Amino acid sequence: CRRLGAEVVMVYRRTRNEMPAIESEIVEAEEEGVTFRFLAAPAELLRQGDMITGMKCQNMRLGEPDASGRRRPEPVENDFTELAATAVIAAIGQVPCMQGFESLDSGRGWIRADSTGATAKDGVYSGGDALGLSLVTTSIYQGRMAAAAIDAKLRGTPLPVEEKAVIANKFSIYYDHYAASSRNETAALPLAERMADLRREVVATLDERSIIEECARCMSCGLCFDCGNCWNVCGENVMPLKGRLKGDSAALATSDCKGCRHCMDECPCGFIEMIDPATGKYIRASMDDSYLV
Ligand SMILES: Cc1cc2nc3c(=O)[nH]c(=O)nc-3n(C[C@H](O)[C@H](O)[C@H](O)COP(=O)(O)OP(=O)(O)OC[C@H]3O[C@@H](n4cnc5c(N)ncnc54)[C@H](O)[C@@H]3O)c2cc1C
Repeated sequence: CRRLGAEVVMVYRRTRNEMPAIESEIVEAEEEGVTFRFLAAPAELLRQGDMITGMKCQNMRLGEPDASGRRRPEPVENDFTELAATAVIAAIGQVPCMQGFESLDSGRGWIRADSTGATAKDGVYSGGDALGLSLVTTSIYQGRMAAAAIDAKLRGTPLPVEEKAVIANKFSIYYDHYAASSRNETAALPLAERMADLRREVVATLDERSIIEECARCMSCGLCFDCGNCWNVCGENVMPLKGRLKGDSAALATSDCKGCRHCMDECPCGFIEMIDPATGKYIRASMDDSYLV
């Protein structure tokens, strides 16, 4: 709206510190001249006939932190401000349009599906934001699970099993293994050009060289990338990697393992985990209770 020439006022019930939006997007909006009105919540739309003329805002103050850890906005009694406006756009989140999908409704306006994507209706699968707002990676995973489940159903084979993984964290990554390399930034149009022509792409995509460099920065967190460190440090030949092709799975000779943990310590990506036989718990888990998922 701002780039189309409108004067835009964004109303938010907390302050800039609590805004969940990505910082760079807030900064871009500020640079382009969007005005923010903090500590205000919509109370009433003001109209003249069918026309919107403004919005009455309840002024707020910050109270104690809520479940999200952010300070809870509380209304200031009898304290309102009226903002003049020709249009009011609600931008507070998304919900699926369930028209035609009523039979899949969880009862709360979202589709319900199990871990394979199967819905209450036989033969209908779902994934992605229609189950609950999430990320691109989650949607892709759910799509793959659904595709595998459909394939299994048609072939009459067992359903895919949801993989449970121990997530690599800052304690399980061996940083010295990786060369430091800074992130490739995308080029963005200067402010004046951004505002001048709505059809121009504001943030460019990375070029081919930068994309390859970005991929090379991947630390393969939690997934083996065949660095061979474990094989190098294992004195007991538990890791029979020699002669094996890159990417092949390896059968470990665990009966020869003396539990020295060198493979775990030298594994750069946190792929190797060891369990304390006395407690049955992951050895590194004690460093961070949020480790196990
Ligand atoms: C502003 C914004 C920023 C985001 N930033 C990120 C980010 O940085 N990283 C990240 O991982 N995720 C981000 N997300 C979330 C991410 O975009 C979604 O989680 C993801 O796109 C969901 O994928 P999906 O396939 O479920 O749905 P969508 O990508 O929404 O695709 C659904 C498709 O179905 C079409 N459709 C809808 N109804 C019908 C119909 N009746 N018939 C036919 N077609 C229909 C729609 O047109 C659309 O093309 C962002 C989301 C928003 C809104």
